[in-house]
Amino acid sequence: MSTNNTPKSSLIGLDRNELTTALEEIGEKPFRAKQLWHWMYYQGETDFSAMTSIAKPLQAKLAEHFIVGRPGLSREQTSRDTARKWLLKFDDGNEAETVFIPEDGRGALCLSSQIGCTLTCTFCHTGTQRLVRNLTAAEIVGQIMVARDSYGEWPSPASDRRFSNIVMMGMGEPLFNYDNVAKALKIIMDGEGISISKRRITLSTSGVVPLIRKCGADLGVNLAISLHAVSDELRNRIMPINKKYPLKELLKACREYPGSNNARRITFEYVMLKGINDSPADARELVRMVKGIPAKFNLIPFNKWPGAEFDCPDAATIKRFSKIINDGGYSAPIRVPRGRDILAACGQLKSASEHEKLSRLKARREAGLEDDHHPS
Ligand code: SAH
Ligand code: SF4
Repeated sequence: MSTNNTPKSSLIGLDRNELTTALEEIGEKPFRAKQLWHWMYYQGETDFSAMTSIAKPLQAKLAEHFIVGRPGLSREQTSRDTARKWLLKFDDGNEAETVFIPEDGRGALCLSSQIGCTLTCTFCHTGTQRLVRNLTAAEIVGQIMVARDSYGEWPSPASDRRFSNIVMMGMGEPLFNYDNVAKALKIIMDGEGISISKRRITLSTSGVVPLIRKCGADLGVNLAISLHAVSDELRNRIMPINKKYPLKELLKACREYPGSNNARRITFEYVMLKGINDSPADARELVRMVKGIPAKFNLIPFNKWPGAEFDCPDAATIKRFSKIINDGGYSAPIRVPRGRDILAACGQLKSASEHEKLSRLKARREAGLEDDHHPS
C-alpha cells in the first residue's frame, strides 16, 4: 500500500533515459524500461496487472509508484464524413483538441501542441484564443494514445494502420513549444513502440525561422509552411510573425531544409481568402517565389468561423488559382474540408471551455451587465 499521498507519476511522455531513471529510483534494472516501453507504446496497455511478461510482485510495485496515464476525455464527436474529434481535458482542467482525418481507410491524426496560440493570425480561430500554456510531451503523446484507444488500434500495427500519418497542425505553433514537441515526436517515431516514421510525420509552422533549422537537423520530419501571402505587406497584416521573420528569411530556411528533395518536398499551405490573396497574379508570384525549393502546395479553402472577417472564394476562383500553379510545374491540390459539421476543420479548433467563456461574456456585454444577472 502506498505510504504517502503524493500523486503517482505517469510514465507516458518520459523518454527512454527518463524511464530508465524512474525505474532505477525504485531499485529496478534498466532492461525493465525496454519491457515497459513495449507494453505502453506497442501494446497500448495501461494496466500493470495485464503486463504478463512482468512478475506479479513487480506489477504491484509499479502500480504503487506509477500510472500509465491518459488525458481525460471531455467529448468525442464523429462527423458525417467520418472525421473524428476528441476534446481532451488535462489534469489542470485545460482542454485541447485532436482530430482524425480519414482518407481511403487510413488517415492523418492532427495533434495540438499548445492550448491556444500566442500568434494572432487573423484568419485563424485558435489565434483568437490567447495562449494558456504549452502542452507537455506526455500530453502530446497522450493524444495519439487516446485516438488509438478510441479505435481499439492496439497493438501498434505494422501495416494497414488507421493512423498512418501524423500532422502537427492542431492548436498552437509547434515550434514555439519545440522541446516538448521534439520529445513527443521522438517517442512517436521510436521503432519499438508507436513506430511512425519521420517520413509520415509533418510539422506545420507559421514560420519560426531559427527553429525550422533545428527541426530539420534534430527530427528530420516533413515540413509544411503556412505561407498564405506573396508579399510582406499582406503577410504582416494577416500573420504578425512575418514582421519578425519576413518572407525572404523564411524562404531561405526552406531552401536549406535538410532532407528535402523532389521525392520529399516542402508543403506550402495557402489559405484561400476571397479578394485578399486569390488573384491569378498571386498564383503566378507563388510559383516564382519558390523557385529552387522542392515544393508542393496545399490550397486550403478558408473555413469560416463565427465572427471571422474573411470569406472563402468560389470554387472556380480556387480552381483557376490551382491551375496556374500546376502550369508552373507544382502540384497544388485543393484540400477537401473534413469534419466541418463538428468544427474540426483547419483553423476552427478552439477549446469548448473557451467557446463557453466567450458566449457568456458576449451575453453579459449585450445585456450591459457586470454581474451574474440573467437577461431573459
Ligand atoms: N500553427 C501552425 C499549425 C496549426 S494551423 C501553423 O500556423 O502552421 C494549421 C493550418 O491551418 C495552417 O496552415 C493555418 O494557417 C491553417 N488555418 C488556420 N485557420 C484557418 C481557417 N480558418 N481556414 C483554413 N485554414 C486555416
Ligand atoms: Fe497560431 Fe497557426 Fe493559428 Fe497562426 S495559424 S494563430 S500560428 S495556430
